[in-house]
Amino acid sequence: MNPQYILHWSYRDFREFPNELLEHIDTLEEIYLKENFIPTLPPWLFQFVHLKFIQISGNLLQNIPSDISELTNLEHLDVSKNQLIDLPKEIYDLNKLQYLNVSDNEITSVDKAIGDMKSLETLNLEKNHLTEIPLEISRSTTLNELFLSDNNNLTEIPTKIMAMQSLRVMEAERCRLEYLPGMVGINLSHIRIFNNPRLTHYPTVYEKFLRLHYDYWSENVVSADLLMIFLPDESKRTIVPRQVEKICSGNNPNSLSEYCLRSLYESRSLYEIVCVKLPSDGLPKNVFQNVMCGPICRCGYSECNKPLFTECHFSLMKKNHSPSHIIFSNMFCSETCRTKWHDDHKAKYHPIGWIQQFH
Ligand SMILES: [Zn+2]
Repeated sequence: MNPQYILHWSYRDFREFPNELLEHIDTLEEIYLKENFIPTLPPWLFQFVHLKFIQISGNLLQNIPSDISELTNLEHLDVSKNQLIDLPKEIYDLNKLQYLNVSDNEITSVDKAIGDMKSLETLNLEKNHLTEIPLEISRSTTLNELFLSDNNNLTEIPTKIMAMQSLRVMEAERCRLEYLPGMVGINLSHIRIFNNPRLTHYPTVYEKFLRLHYDYWSENVVSADLLMIFLPDESKRTIVPRQVEKICSGNNPNSLSEYCLRSLYESRSLYEIVCVKLPSDGLPKNVFQNVMCGPICRCGYSECNKPLFTECHFSLMKKNHSPSHIIFSNMFCSETCRTKWHDDHKAKYHPIGWIQQFH
């Protein structure tokens, strides 16, 4: 057999990795083994140092050996539709990997080291059993596309991830999201968040992504550890981000911790140093969380734009002259900003009443 760069061996009924592959060890760059019955990756595969592309979706793989890190030229890895329950940490050492598809497996968690991958552009984690997404993904400066749909117990996407500068595409349909981050990255042009039945309000920044079929209001069962808001006219409860401890009304002074977190964040270089060096037991857990996660939102009044951490002035509203049931939300740093925003937008939205319920 002549040496080959690309082998198309999908749909061949292979029960194991074909030994014939070894004849191409010095040349092979791409291999397609989709929809076979292969249960393991053999140790000799990791000597194929020229490999750039592996497509092995729809097989019977239960794990990926840690030797995967030997494939230092790998750029594209598709192991979707297998039986993986986790990923080896060594996979995150693949510094040329641009495309990682692990969708449709049995994965329950992803290590925070994923945020350190140097070239990752597309990450597909759909159809797994993730309950949370590591905040460290937000460290990536290359990630373009993030697919999270069909993780039925995923309740939140960290604001820091949704606000990533590099992100263009985000999908999280049919999850269990309880609220959406109040900020989105400036380059996000595609967001799909259909069928998250617990969502009761959409921050106004999502309006441009909404379509008519978003217009429903589902029954909600909410967990008790969240700050909830009761809508008397709808007999429904709605939820604000987990880090928010206080909804202000009137002209309440901001708390000292809110002031401290804001000034730390505004001094970006100091903030970066703290985020890299702060030991997790160096501060009380909730303060540590607030520092690491960054602001939940920025003041919705664009001329102000202050970061918000633990408290906000919260507004719920509907569109004027619209039969839509969608409730939009916005957060502000002060009653003054809230009033100014509503004055500027009164032709488009009207505020709706609600009663706060503490946990
Ligand atoms: Zn403000």
